Amino acid sequence: NTFAEIDLGEGLNQNIRRCKYVKPTPVQRYAIPISVAGRDLMACAQTGSGKTAAFCFPIISGIMRGPPSQRQRGSRTVYPMALILSPTRELSIQIHEEARKFSYQTGVKVVVAYGGAPINQQLRDLERGVDILVATPGRLVDLLERARVSLQNIRYLALDEADRMLDMGFEPQIRRIVEQMDMPPPGQRQTMLFSATFPKEIQRLASDFLYNYIFLAV
Ligand code: AMP
Repeated sequence: NTFAEIDLGEGLNQNIRRCKYVKPTPVQRYAIPISVAGRDLMACAQTGSGKTAAFCFPIISGIMRGPPSQRQRGSRTVYPMALILSPTRELSIQIHEEARKFSYQTGVKVVVAYGGAPINQQLRDLERGVDILVATPGRLVDLLERARVSLQNIRYLALDEADRMLDMGFEPQIRRIVEQMDMPPPGQRQTMLFSATFPKEIQRLASDFLYNYIFLAV
């Protein structure tokens, strides 16, 4: 019933205490154990429900406990282990800020890349290393085309506000992005799909991207 009872790794548990999170919100209470257990998840959750932590905690915990990321020397391509897709620049910035607080002093590196801003600073941020990439779909496609990001090592994929991404016309970009992931389910890639609503189009994404998933509505 409290975060202290969930073992997410000492560094992350400490950061959760620093953020003054004591009690999980309903979506966190169910989503975190499901994801930590390695299952794919389709969650219907609204803004303000605490969904950011619900997908960040299992990702950070998993990366802290997993093998370290590999860096290809001499190559400018980076190989993040986790990808968080979000519809807008504002939401991406917000997720990035939260994810950085949660990963403070854990060694897990978080970088954000969004459209409508110069790409150069984002390229420099990526060059310094990235475990978790937070991105909007259009800018990520650009980075993939420039071969600055590879999705071959993605172990965790989270899609936030998926219904909004589809409303904004991002479905082709999202499908192109997911097609580039080398590690298909089951076993390798773990996917979390968050959406406020659950229309036909989201059900189709869920059946295309998730493996044997648990459906959660809070
Ligand atoms: P979100 O729905 O992820 O945008 O979170 C909404 C707000 O609630 C953010 O300001 C979070 O920092 C805060 N929050 C999320 N989970 C908790 C929690 N378990 N305890 C206290 N605050 C939280």
